[in-house]
Amino acid sequence: MPACSSCWNEVFQYETNKVTQIQSTNYGTIKWFLHMIVLFYISFALLSDKLYQQKEPVISSVNAKVKGIAEVAGGAGAAAAAAGSIFDAADYTFGLQGNSFFVMTNFLKTEGQQQKLCPEYPTRRTVCSSDRGCKKGWTDPLGKGIQTGKCISFNATHKTCEVWAWCPAEAVEEAPRPALLSSAENFTVLIKNNIGFPGHNYTTRNILPDLNVSCTFHKTQNPQCPIFRLGDILREAGENFSEVAIQGGIMGIEIYWDCNLDQWSHHCRPKYSFRRLDNKTTNESLIPGYNFRFAKYYRENNVEYRTLIKVFGIRFDILVFGTGGKFDIIQLVVYIGSTLSYFGLATVFIDFLIKTYSNSLCQTCVYSSCKCCKPCMVNEYYYRKKFEFIVEPSPTLKYVSFVDEPHIRMVDQKLLGKSLQDAKGRPVPRPEADFTALSALPLPDLDPDPQPGPDEAEAEELQPLRGAPAPEPADGPSPGWCRCGRCRPSALPEPRRPLEELCCRRAPGPCITSSPLFAALVLCPRRLRLLLLLREPLGAAPPAAAAAAARRLRHCAYRCYAAWRFGGADLADFAILPSCCRWRIRREFPRADGRYRGFQSPC
Ligand code: ZN
Ligand code: ZN
Repeated sequence: MPACSSCWNEVFQYETNKVTQIQSTNYGTIKWFLHMIVLFYISFALLSDKLYQQKEPVISSVNAKVKGIAEVAGGAGAAAAAAGSIFDAADYTFGLQGNSFFVMTNFLKTEGQQQKLCPEYPTRRTVCSSDRGCKKGWTDPLGKGIQTGKCISFNATHKTCEVWAWCPAEAVEEAPRPALLSSAENFTVLIKNNIGFPGHNYTTRNILPDLNVSCTFHKTQNPQCPIFRLGDILREAGENFSEVAIQGGIMGIEIYWDCNLDQWSHHCRPKYSFRRLDNKTTNESLIPGYNFRFAKYYRENNVEYRTLIKVFGIRFDILVFGTGGKFDIIQLVVYIGSTLSYFGLATVFIDFLIKTYSNSLCQTCVYSSCKCCKPCMVNEYYYRKKFEFIVEPSPTLKYVSFVDEPHIRMVDQKLLGKSLQDAKGRPVPRPEADFTALSALPLPDLDPDPQPGPDEAEAEELQPLRGAPAPEPADGPSPGWCRCGRCRPSALPEPRRPLEELCCRRAPGPCITSSPLFAALVLCPRRLRLLLLLREPLGAAPPAAAAAAARRLRHCAYRCYAAWRFGGADLADFAILPSCCRWRIRREFPRADGRYRGFQSPC
């Protein structure tokens, strides 16, 4: 199956980029310098962040045990009753849930409450002057019970609504200052923390087997001791214990495990740090601190009583986080693969230098001979060797070459005005023509002058009009747009006429057809026949009819002119010949009836 053999050929193909190698000490040095920086950075990141390791987050369990005895400081009001009593761990710690524990630092006690009818504690919301200020069956969300609709005396000065509640109603009071249990500062807490990395099959705990049970944590002197003094925890977090103790608060104990489980550098010990987690501001309207209520119940003479305690204290949340890493070949390969692209940095940077120092900066530089232009010239050379310019082929783009201008002009046919001669166009650098093939051809003795040497011939090609003979007389009055005096008016209809209105010169002067090179390169029939033969070595027998032979030579001459003045075949395909040249060629290889097609659109 021939179709499939061609698809197999396509499968077994390999495409690769063509690379330009520039021999340059400067750019070679820059390349190696950038490569070294990249290599240094990659190695540094690899080692410092241990990017060769497979990392896994820690899983953990926490248990905390608070110890210490506090004596209640003497206070005013309700606290006075409790003055002198002793609090141990059972009194001041409350049910540990999750990874946190609570230590009471301050409290308000309401003793001997029983369920009956009594007046509310007088506040702005509860005072009344008559029964109309109270509503039967209504419960104030901030009140203590269900209203009976009566307004009764609380004391000699205040009347409040009567409620069905635990009586006497709890007083609305500020937390005692200083805190009643401010000696809780000296309590200690033992934190037991077991952690594990299941993926690495590794478990450990924060308490070492050789722990001295009487130690106390200190940031620098004893950083591994798991027994913490509460006052130290707050001090490390930048807080004052006796101030936080009044209203209560929430503290975070952070345990960070950064474990390296590689055998050659094993390390897995916790780091402790502390921070306050609740809002520090003590603005009353924002309800600062941390408090809750609990009650102790008892029976007396078959009547149920309770002691209500509003507790202020500090909740300690233990936050365990961290990662464990172990060498993993896949991680290493992925890291190396992801960093390879950084080595392209040198190419990007040097290409940028070449482009910047050859184009924009050197536009003004090319014709001057100052020292700063030297790198520009070198870069210009690299730039030309590296980049190949291709203009998008468009049927409306035409190229025009004037003998008195160094560059070629690119003109868009769509933007053409009155005539091609006056079109502004965009300058395009003239491609470097390869004259070696031309100079190899035998030059016919058209002129009586001695044969010029190869160097001289090339110089003449670049300056076609140097030493040109006096212009021949024109074949009639030349049109207004002509600058050389040898063009003829276009016979084409209006839309295509401007395309034929083109002279060989931009400024007045001698015509290019008067150059001896024009005769040698474009008009010489022997050369044209040779070129036709080169194209078709066997099939180019001269046609019998003289008209057909002249037509072939004429078209070959057009192509010769385009190749001479526009360099490579790329531009010559879209080139437009000046009127004087076309008519000079037509005079050499005429049509019998003298009717020429004129400019034709390619399509
Ligand atoms: Zn002219
Ligand atoms: Zn001319």
